[in-house]
Amino acid sequence: MPDREPHLLILGGTAEAAALAAATPQRFGGRIAVTTSLAGRTRAPLAVAGTMRVGGFGGVEGLATWLETARVDMVVDATHPFAARISANARQACTVAAVPRLILARRPWIAGPDDNWRGVADLDSAAAILPELGKRVFLSVGSQGVYAFTRLGGVHFVVRMIDPPVEALPLDDYMVVLGRGPFDEASELRLFEDARIDALVSRNSGGTATIAKITVARRLGLPVVMVAPPPLEPGLRVDALEGALQWIGDQI
Ligand code: NAP
Repeated sequence: MPDREPHLLILGGTAEAAALAAATPQRFGGRIAVTTSLAGRTRAPLAVAGTMRVGGFGGVEGLATWLETARVDMVVDATHPFAARISANARQACTVAAVPRLILARRPWIAGPDDNWRGVADLDSAAAILPELGKRVFLSVGSQGVYAFTRLGGVHFVVRMIDPPVEALPLDDYMVVLGRGPFDEASELRLFEDARIDALVSRNSGGTATIAKITVARRLGLPVVMVAPPPLEPGLRVDALEGALQWIGDQI
């Protein structure tokens, strides 16, 4: 390691990334400089401990250059499991810049005996089977994900977003509810009951922050169209904060 403070870049945008940014100085004191990078998708991102930078890097080349210019010594990719491009870019850029990289990734949810899931590979497949499953659907697929449901008539969608949409959503019949996780079971139940939800479409994002909607669907006996996450990037991986802290400790 260099004779300056080692520099950790956390690729963020998730609760896990924010937790790691907070836990790293607690564990290592001032022995490490931490920067968290956000894409800039939400208008008012929550504060994170340490330094925050916002906005794309400009692909693999841009990220590799950034790693070198900012003298980054290690990268933890703690991005959302469905944010596939930045994870692929991180793998390639870290190879180019010879910077060690760890993936901090949640484990996907697993259906239990009381769950009524229809597993699908992607959003188009979810849209294809949805009309036979429900007419009042909680659509939890991210703001870009709604485009796959554009041509579905006869379905009322409830779409949750962090920021109000800047333009009308490309859906025939919908209602937007605003909210930022984590969500608890009581408020999810209220939402499902008030909106008379009869089916849920969810990406299998794993983790605890958004699992309450899955629990509520199980409780109400509702079908869930569960979209599988994209393939994992190769590389060293942990699924909990402690594993990431140990890896950081090994690097400094
Ligand atoms: P994506 O498709 O993998 O990334 C698209 C582009 O956004 C990347 O090529 C990169 O631009 C930029 N980018 C993404 N994450 C970045 C980061 N942490 N720092 C700097 N630039 C970043 O990602 P996405 O699905 O649009 O998600 C964007 C961010 O939101 C991710 O950081 C993710 O952790 C967070 N998030 C996503 C979801 C989701 O549903 N996808 C949910 C919760 C949070 P350049 O190529 O120009 O570098």
